Amino acid sequence: MITSRALEYAQSHRPSFLAQLKDLVRFPSVSSQPKHAQDIKRCAAWLANHLRKIGLDSVRIVPTPRHPVVYGEWKRAPGRPTVLIYGHYDVLPADPLREWHSPPFEPTVRGEDLYGRGACDDKGQFFTHVKALEAYLQTERALPVNVKCVFEGEEEIDSPNLVPFVAGNNRALRANVAFMSDSQMLAPDRPAITHAQRGALRLEVEVRGPKQDLHSGSFGGAIHNPLQALCEMIASLHDKVGRVAIPGFYDRVRPWAAAESASMRRTGPSDAQILHDARAEKGWGERGYSLYERTTLRPALTVNGILGGYQGLGVKAVIPARALAKISFRLAPDQDPKDIDRLFRRHIARIMPGSVQSAVRTLSSAKPALMNRNHPSMRAAVLACWKGFDAVPAFLRTGGSIPAVSIFQEYLGIPTVHIGLALPDDRIHSPNEKFHLPTFYKGITTSIWFLAAIGALRRLRASPREEVEAKAAEWSLAYDH
Ligand SMILES: [Zn+2]
Repeated sequence: MITSRALEYAQSHRPSFLAQLKDLVRFPSVSSQPKHAQDIKRCAAWLANHLRKIGLDSVRIVPTPRHPVVYGEWKRAPGRPTVLIYGHYDVLPADPLREWHSPPFEPTVRGEDLYGRGACDDKGQFFTHVKALEAYLQTERALPVNVKCVFEGEEEIDSPNLVPFVAGNNRALRANVAFMSDSQMLAPDRPAITHAQRGALRLEVEVRGPKQDLHSGSFGGAIHNPLQALCEMIASLHDKVGRVAIPGFYDRVRPWAAAESASMRRTGPSDAQILHDARAEKGWGERGYSLYERTTLRPALTVNGILGGYQGLGVKAVIPARALAKISFRLAPDQDPKDIDRLFRRHIARIMPGSVQSAVRTLSSAKPALMNRNHPSMRAAVLACWKGFDAVPAFLRTGGSIPAVSIFQEYLGIPTVHIGLALPDDRIHSPNEKFHLPTFYKGITTSIWFLAAIGALRRLRASPREEVEAKAAEWSLAYDH
């Protein structure tokens, strides 16, 4: 069996795997802060060097206008499928620093967990796949599949250079399936495959009134305040039952079958669990849907920020000349960000009072992604989770949007197998982020089995047509008619 020596290697090398993961977490590779640009570079160099050491070919640090992509490949299995392994080595800022029990970039083991910024998101998670490759290459001198590794340094800032990288290297990156770990599982003994994610669209709306700020005594009541006009427009974006009130917004959101809701109730988080995670007492939103459905099957519009007027101490009697709102949409599987962008602009133009002017700017967008649960690579993933965790994985939807998944779908025409390894209490993006070490080791075992299972699927081809047909079959089962 091709896996046995690799599995033994992974078992006996746990101490060195942990030491290397600590080395990786030690880099403060914060992508959003210019002061960490050198740390990002050093982290990329370390990773590239590591990929060379474990036996990958053509390892390169590919510069982008901001942070580099680390690339490595192994293409010596002609006739076998190609797996594109994705991860991100950048992390979020660690503040507030005083809330950490140990310094965020001095990785520390306490109990069964490794604490540190990025330990889970995504360094620990993607490192499981690097270690799986090492286990094969150091024992068999071969992999069961061809592999292309793409590790980016910009995921936490919305992957601004991933589209040009993937589109520009379209032929070189050709693969049958993408494979990644950058999401949640349900519990240490409940692995999960994330098979659907929402799309995203982020915009800014700016409202302008008078040429400069005005005295609210001299002009209040006579000049329309841009901040007030903006708030009136924002307030009208939802109706009284929590639905988005933009005409045509729901046209492409199709209803799902009762069976889908039932399976989501069985496998996904309950309302109580989601409220607990949010540390909130009451839910809100569209009537007739569970909170899990509202955050995954249904789209949402969120106001992320409003800027305008006087924000300092005490009073300042002013009518501001301008106001700005940051708006984001999360889009359900059938919605296209381009359509929604158009609908939103048309709607804003319609509801804008004649007394002010407005401008809408699009900041970023990502298409929703839905993977066919019956795709052969998904069956390989189920088998791999079973081998790694001794449990059948749940299929989960996520309300978030990982740009890479939609980019691989759109530009390479391939599905992504996404096995999340973050536990609900791993505190990603928060102080005291951690990675559960038993899950790290089980993730490596899972990855070893996944690569073996894909390698056994000789006929796995990137056939867009097959994919579309399989998807159509799944959807006709899942939709109410
Ligand atoms: Zn991540």
